[in-house]
Amino acid sequence: MKKVLFVTSEAHPLIKTGGLGDVSGSLPKALAELSQDVRLIIPNYQSLKTNEDVRYLCSLRVDNRAVDILETHMPEAGVIVWLVDCPEYFDYPGNPYVDEQGNPWSNNAERFALFCRIAVEVAMNRAHLDWKADIVHCNDWQSGLVPALLSLEHDRPATVFTIHNMAYQGLFPGIIAASLNLPGQLLHSNGLEFHSMLSFIKGGLAYADRITTVSPTYALEIQTPALGYGLEGLLTYRKEVLSGIINGIDLDQWNPETDPYISQQYGAKSLAKKQFNKSELQRKLSLPVNGDIPVFGLISRLVEQKGIDLLIECLPDMIDMPLQFVLLGNGEHEFEHSLQNLAHIYPDKIAITISYDESLAHLIEAGADIFLMPSRFEPCGLNQMYSQRYGTIPVVRKTGGLADTVIDTLPETIANKSATGIVFNEASPGTLLEAIKRAIILYSSPDIWKQLQANGMKKDFSWQQSAKQYLALYRSI
Ligand code: ADP
Repeated sequence: MKKVLFVTSEAHPLIKTGGLGDVSGSLPKALAELSQDVRLIIPNYQSLKTNEDVRYLCSLRVDNRAVDILETHMPEAGVIVWLVDCPEYFDYPGNPYVDEQGNPWSNNAERFALFCRIAVEVAMNRAHLDWKADIVHCNDWQSGLVPALLSLEHDRPATVFTIHNMAYQGLFPGIIAASLNLPGQLLHSNGLEFHSMLSFIKGGLAYADRITTVSPTYALEIQTPALGYGLEGLLTYRKEVLSGIINGIDLDQWNPETDPYISQQYGAKSLAKKQFNKSELQRKLSLPVNGDIPVFGLISRLVEQKGIDLLIECLPDMIDMPLQFVLLGNGEHEFEHSLQNLAHIYPDKIAITISYDESLAHLIEAGADIFLMPSRFEPCGLNQMYSQRYGTIPVVRKTGGLADTVIDTLPETIANKSATGIVFNEASPGTLLEAIKRAIILYSSPDIWKQLQANGMKKDFSWQQSAKQYLALYRSI
């Protein structure tokens, strides 16, 4: 059994802003189910949603600041959670990283440096908790200083650093390093420095014993200038210890057989009932109710990363094709307006919902025939996995986790029953349009279509699968 300290700045359902929150909510639980001794450590933000059972454990003094460690548990899962309680730094309302205007809190470097120092004290069993980690698993820049600081300790635990998105690096003016009292041994261009700035993520990338990211393809892509954000050289240098492990999905929440949000539950053996969800979706979004026309769905933040601009360029051509298109999302106003304009002109073909709507998201997964993900990059991605579970055929660009979880439909993958979707290469409107045409042609071959659905619905996207790979990694260090 490994003792794992899981260091994270967010964890669902305590607090979540994105994919990191999902992973931190699910992976520790899945590791605990594999009989590992996992403890989560997270800042005690004001907006943290804990159970009643919070109790005081101990006080520490770090950098002249008094910090309490409190203990609680993950709701339902029961995994032990240690809260780093420093009101001066974490008792702020709302988002953990940014203020109400969306600007980063001005003392983020100090806040997360303190969090990292406390995690090190706990990991080294200097917090009187009578527990010493074997593995310290850090996530994203907010915990990046932990592997760096631990590298200076004798008899230290092994460290793993997981990259959830390279686009966020925790870069601060170089001068801050002095006020954070960071050890001089760490402050050089092979350490925490990045072009005279202080880089928190480099603490993980340069010092962790193992680096992981959330898909094997993304692990390769971040070693290139296109997606390495200037750190591709370091990542290539460390490629022997860098690997990708696909995230799992929540199989209880995303299960067409029990999903409370959809109008008719169904499974692989009762796929015909999926049709009722299609009619309900069409009715709800005021599209003509037509069982024969293929419905394309898309649910996403409306940002360039997700290829929304490529899709907008395709829409005028899609109008002339036998299809309907439904989109749920919000984000950049320019994209929101273009999409809404097109929906006004073609209300019989396009339905656009600008909001964040959990229940409509489930109905789209259940009711659409085809799901579009034309992402420019996608570290892992979730909807392509939900889609396969719901018998909805994903059309994805060959990048990151999309490339790793969707098998393109080709003569050989039809023959060996592995095909689950349509994969296209280039991030261009023309290529996306070709992929959409391929989907329409395949849709008109019911035998092949049913096989694609069946192949996708029997795939195992569980967290157990991912947790086993993390455990094998821990054991390999
Ligand atoms: P990212 O974390 O980059 O946004 P992911 O695919 O990893 O992309 O996860 C996004 C999750 O958020 C998915 O489960 C998706 O369905 C959900 N989501 C995104 N936008 C919306 C929305 N407007 N309404 C409901 N769910 C949404």
